[in-house]
Amino acid sequence: MELIDAIHETLPQIQCGRCDTPGCYQYAKDIAEGAPHDRCVPGGSKTLNKLNIILDKDLNEVDLAYGPSIKNQKVKIIEDDCIGCKKCIEACPVDAIVGATNLMHSVIDDICTGCELCIEPCPVDCIEIIEKSASETVEQRENSQYFFDLKESLQTHEKRKKLANNSPENISISDEINLRIRNRKIDKTAALNKMQSTIIKDDLVKLHEFNPNDVTAFLKDKNDS
Ligand code: SF4
Ligand code: SF4
Ligand code: SF4
Repeated sequence: MELIDAIHETLPQIQCGRCDTPGCYQYAKDIAEGAPHDRCVPGGSKTLNKLNIILDKDLNEVDLAYGPSIKNQKVKIIEDDCIGCKKCIEACPVDAIVGATNLMHSVIDDICTGCELCIEPCPVDCIEIIEKSASETVEQRENSQYFFDLKESLQTHEKRKKLANNSPENISISDEINLRIRNRKIDKTAALNKMQSTIIKDDLVKLHEFNPNDVTAFLKDKNDS
């Protein structure tokens, strides 16, 4: 077996990018070319020890500078709050989110690795983490490289259109989403207000260096005056 493949097989296949590379396979390549092998925090000591054996090295701990670990989990979109901005779709490394511009989005449970990459870009904070058992995430993670590669290879509009036209599975997912969109009750004004409030709060913290704890009190004072 090639060294890259042996390394890749030991990585947890969450495709989270916390190792500072876009995906597990790229990190396996980087390790084979000499990059430190202690950057996969989600893999923890179990992955590190296997890599130590493969590489004949003896690093003791993963480098926590590469971010917190990731539990056995998936995410769920709170569909009544979703404003359909598509930012989560762009962020998802394995194309586990479906939806159309300005319409509700939904997570495909069978593909989501729980990598958390969609959470931060959501402007209305409507993506929540659901803890799962190890057995409920193993298949998604084992198959993630396939979906990661598929997303990479489907970057052009034409290829995406072809897949949408050809896949009965995608068509049935779209049908189900359309049905749920027609049947749901959404307060668009409340969702937009929530998004605007999130953006203002972010700006106060990032651009005006407010203490996050003071932002709510400040906005309340402004509204009262
Ligand atoms: S699981 Fe995340 S941190 Fe670990 S190798 Fe894969 S992309 Fe990198
Ligand atoms: S839906 Fe979110 S958590 Fe799940 S794989 Fe995609 S980006 Fe990661
Ligand atoms: S980022 Fe949030 S609001 Fe935008 S489409 Fe995704 S879930 Fe909906």
